[in-house]
Amino acid sequence: MELLFHRVYEMAEMMAGLVTADCDYCFGELDWDSPCVDRCLIAFSKTSLLGYFCFAHIAIHERRRFRKDPELVDVETEHLAFERYSIPHKRFEEFRQNFPRVEDEQDAFYPWMLDQEEAFAQLWERMTDEVAHVLFGNRGFLLEFNLGLAEYRRRRRDRPSTRCAIPQWVKKAVYFRENGKCALCKKDLSGLIALDAKQQYDHIVPLKSLGANDPCNIQLLCRKCNLLKGASPARTSFIYDPWWK
Ligand SMILES: [Zn+2]
Repeated sequence: MELLFHRVYEMAEMMAGLVTADCDYCFGELDWDSPCVDRCLIAFSKTSLLGYFCFAHIAIHERRRFRKDPELVDVETEHLAFERYSIPHKRFEEFRQNFPRVEDEQDAFYPWMLDQEEAFAQLWERMTDEVAHVLFGNRGFLLEFNLGLAEYRRRRRDRPSTRCAIPQWVKKAVYFRENGKCALCKKDLSGLIALDAKQQYDHIVPLKSLGANDPCNIQLLCRKCNLLKGASPARTSFIYDPWWK
């Protein structure tokens, strides 16, 4: 996966703010009428709810920026992003030549975005992949995300999702993120050091509390922490291994 980091941290910070805001707004913006989105609650999907969430809010944010705050748009930065991601597009100057009806150049930014909607959607998809990649590594964010989603589901009177087998590709991704250790107590679960260590893949927000069967709601725990967590509310840890010591 090629990461070019186009405004990734700005968008990641925006997502972190959103998940602690009103859940009716931030989760209500997902296209729940789409069977693909709705199904993410009940069956593990490689396009996770986190991906749908990031795309929906990047699209909303960017449309609003072009429409309401054109002074915040830097056309050259947009061109550069298209070029770095190799996304075919019509440059603003070219569009402007055939769109001379406005005096102020900034008034043509939003019409340009609408004209190049396909190119912008491709750019937002690439940004989504990168933002979701960064956020999947942040358990603290994932806890807030899943708590907000569960509250949204509680308000719309969802039933709990049924337990299903966690696919190997989810386990591998989570194992990699946790560095083969229990997310809470950091016990080594690789089987190389503690031979009796059992890996348990846990829903950060439990299914019975309206947690989703989604990759972003899974963490790796040892048996002891999983047993202890069973009786307590959703939790995770904010501790990560340093790259070196
Ligand atoms: Zn543990």
